[in-house]
Amino acid sequence: MDLKKEINLLKTEKNALILAHYYQRPEIQEIADYVGDSYYLSKIAKDSPNKLIVFCGVKFMAESAKILSPEKTVLLPALDAGCPMADMADVDGLVELKEKHPDAAVVCYINSTSDVKALCDVTVTSSNALKVIKKLPQKKIIFLPDKNLGGYIAEQMPEKDFILWNGFCITHKKISAENILKSKNAINDIVVLAHPECEKEIRDLADFIGSTGEMINYATDCSAKNYLVCTEEGIHYELSKKNPHKNFYFPGTSTLCPNMKKTRLEDIANVLRNNCNEITIKEEVRLKALNCLLNMHELAR
Ligand code: SF4
Repeated sequence: MDLKKEINLLKTEKNALILAHYYQRPEIQEIADYVGDSYYLSKIAKDSPNKLIVFCGVKFMAESAKILSPEKTVLLPALDAGCPMADMADVDGLVELKEKHPDAAVVCYINSTSDVKALCDVTVTSSNALKVIKKLPQKKIIFLPDKNLGGYIAEQMPEKDFILWNGFCITHKKISAENILKSKNAINDIVVLAHPECEKEIRDLADFIGSTGEMINYATDCSAKNYLVCTEEGIHYELSKKNPHKNFYFPGTSTLCPNMKKTRLEDIANVLRNNCNEITIKEEVRLKALNCLLNMHELAR
């Protein structure tokens, strides 16, 4: 039987919900019930009546869904799909840093493991980081793991002192200023969109900086025809679906996240057939990480 057909049959039979991140392969986004960024998807997972969630993304995303919905079964089709940036933050290093700066608020990007979230005061996304951190009473902020998102927020908040973890996204790091300048020279009036995970020299060349969802909305509302999109290429699927008459270019040749591309249709069929690759989190860790996510909810309101 055709894999897509089999997935749809299994999904109905098991009353499962398939969620896919914007960076997933086009055929995965096509088969998903919802496509979005990690925070949006974890909220969908929580609010839906389905007890079985198939999360097509990387591990920290499926963990966030499980933290918010412990009563649900969350399956990760490609169990080895991690996030190198999330893995750059380690528990021992964070404990040491917290001891050095007991007066600091500890803020983690949602792209963090559940163990790291459990040690932090509040989580942020790339779209709500500014709002959430502004509301924190502490002047000193430990921000992890992404030094680029942290640096971008720090530039806009000179009133606070930021201690940035030295983490970064290996995919966004591949984007070069040289390639952006080449595209700007080659295509008149091209609009440059950049994710805040990009390095500063890339952000400085951008016309708009925002999360994946914000970039999609910006391009959809903007009247320009041509865009250079400085993030993972999987976003092209949603951008072109919403804007079939606009042109979207990517800098260089390799803005693909190898972990995001690990999920294949066969993996989705496999977890649905066998109920395998379930995400589990120790309850003690989950409760602390949940607190960190709920604090974000509260402050982002
Ligand atoms: S694109 Fe970057 S931040 Fe996102 S999962 Fe891949 S490595 Fe992690």
